[in-house]
Amino acid sequence: MRVAIIGGGPRGTSVIERLIARANDPNFALTRLARDDGHAPELHIDIFDPYPIGAGQVWRNDQSPWFINNTSARNNTLYTDAEVPLDGGPVVTGPSVAEWAEQIAPALPLADDPDFARELRDVSPWHKPSRRLQGEYFHWVFEQVRAQAPDWVHITTHRATVTDVRGTGIDPQVLTYLPTDADQTQTLLADVVVSAQGFVPDRLADDSVDGTALPARLAADLPLERIPAGASVAVSGLGATFFDFIGTFFEGRGGRFERDAEGTLIYHPSGREPRMFAGSRSGLPHRSQRLNGPDQYAAPSIPLFAPEATAALIEEHRNRHDLTFVDDLWPAFLAQAGTVFRTRAEHLGLDVDFEWERLVDPTLGRDFANADEWNAFIEEHFIREFISLSAPDASPWTGVHQLAGHLRALTERARIAGVFTSEAEQRYIERDLLPAANILASGPPSFRFERLAALRRQGFVQLIGPELRVRAEDDGYTAWSPRVAGSEVHAQYWLAGHQAWGTLSKTEDALLAGWLQRGEATLAPLGWPADARNVHSLAVTPQRLHPITEDGTVLTQRVVIGCVAGQYQPGAGQAAVPHSGGSFLAGTDIAAQVVWERLIDQPHAAENAGIAESNSLV
Ligand SMILES: Cc1cc2nc3c(=O)[nH]c(=O)nc-3n(C[C@H](O)[C@H](O)[C@H](O)COP(=O)(O)OP(=O)(O)OC[C@H]3O[C@@H](n4cnc5c(N)ncnc54)[C@H](O)[C@@H]3O)c2cc1C
Repeated sequence: MRVAIIGGGPRGTSVIERLIARANDPNFALTRLARDDGHAPELHIDIFDPYPIGAGQVWRNDQSPWFINNTSARNNTLYTDAEVPLDGGPVVTGPSVAEWAEQIAPALPLADDPDFARELRDVSPWHKPSRRLQGEYFHWVFEQVRAQAPDWVHITTHRATVTDVRGTGIDPQVLTYLPTDADQTQTLLADVVVSAQGFVPDRLADDSVDGTALPARLAADLPLERIPAGASVAVSGLGATFFDFIGTFFEGRGGRFERDAEGTLIYHPSGREPRMFAGSRSGLPHRSQRLNGPDQYAAPSIPLFAPEATAALIEEHRNRHDLTFVDDLWPAFLAQAGTVFRTRAEHLGLDVDFEWERLVDPTLGRDFANADEWNAFIEEHFIREFISLSAPDASPWTGVHQLAGHLRALTERARIAGVFTSEAEQRYIERDLLPAANILASGPPSFRFERLAALRRQGFVQLIGPELRVRAEDDGYTAWSPRVAGSEVHAQYWLAGHQAWGTLSKTEDALLAGWLQRGEATLAPLGWPADARNVHSLAVTPQRLHPITEDGTVLTQRVVIGCVAGQYQPGAGQAAVPHSGGSFLAGTDIAAQVVWERLIDQPHAAENAGIAESNSLV
């Protein structure tokens, strides 16, 4: 019996952990059989990724230390706990990233690297790890799990891209893959195929790559060193990738941030940095997380979000599928958010009123007569941000941000428990709540915001305005905001820092494109105009995550986990958070359970199929 896992990032790694957890648990009959009776079934696990297995593409360890994880070290794990809604797999506890970084990593060879050693010295539960340190954790988990595999389980790693998987019905699947060190594809037979591909990039427009326009890709994939000192750079997008650019161009090129006597952060240039002109749809970064402390807050005393109340609400509606977001949750949320906002504003003597739409989009369609007016608006917005960061428990804005994060967590748990009335309800959540909650509750870490504020004050970074446009010229680019009169700037380079992955209808991934083209996979129906949200999900069965073909057949030998089937796995784009009951580990446990059931039914299917296998690369 052979399972092929496509994608060696955290999810692919977790599927293997879930399989080995079963293989080592004496409560599993098959495990006893293997141990006691000698008639061991053989389980072959083949995992494919062109990037290092464990870390995968996002968390690979050859990237700049200035690219960081937005999630705190204590909120990141690959191990299960009692809150994970498992599909029969055992709970196996293990360290979070914070525990690993404090207790285990200092004794590993990676601690000999000066950058890692420095980071490990500073680590705390609230530390935002560099992506490469995070990748070392995932890799460590993979190695631990591999070492714990019993002798009837064989794990083979392939540094390779899977370009096709064919086969329907009960026949083994034929996998075609291209190893990174070869120019010929190879094939392998597998009884079950698990797609754990993460965010797959969209195809690039033909004209989007040349020497001066760097396409929308992970910052780690862009030749940022090509941009010379003093160059002018237009940046579209103010999300995580924009902050990666800032890290690379300023501290990454030798600049330093220091506080002056009044505590204000000052940037000391190295002379090697470019000048950045940046904008986005809203013209402002997402609201920042709080300064120097926990990025989660004490459980609110608000009844709707108290942990017992959330659990009781889910229990009350379990199996009845009659909870509505629009009637049961949203009005209660708005009423409570309004009360929190007004009470805190009154307490601080601030003359501001609660307007949900304005919190989510501070410019709210306003046009600006000139750059001075726009800059004055930013100043005011940044002052509010600093109040939120430095006094989060008193700030009216933070009070609402916190509640939006709690509402998102509550709806995710309720969706995983399947208690909402209908799919239409869930689409309302995806279309209206989640983007707003992401803006309010998933912004940059506070130190990244503070650095941006310093760089902007000192003229190294200019925010251009909302609805950013960029036009190619003979000698570079013009960037401007149609909502800020006179905002045009000329730049020599253009860096696309906006999201350009996850739109499956134009995916660059040959495997998924092939499935869609042949009708072996379909897109989940979107309940809203296609352009309202850029990301699509494959249609899969909600319980077992099997893809559904164009003619409605359920392909039981394939399982799709993570972002590619994100509509069925709330919160698919986020890490596994300890004790959150989130969908990440629930999904990987489903994939392992599908493999396990197949192993019980047909332990030798692929081996007996009589089709020659290629040699595996180990
Ligand atoms: C730039 C960026 C920053 C992020 N920052 C955060 C953050 O701060 N906090 C957070 O919680 N989450 C963050 N995320 C979300 C992140 O995707 C998840 O936390 C997590 O990595 C998802 O794990 P995964 O295994 O599902 O996907 P991934 O980590 O994306 O792994 C999928 C793997 O599949 C491989 N793959 C894809 N197609 C194929 C194929 N055809 N053949 C072989 N291999 C293939 C890829 O190379 C990749 O390594 C970020 C994502 C990105 C892109």
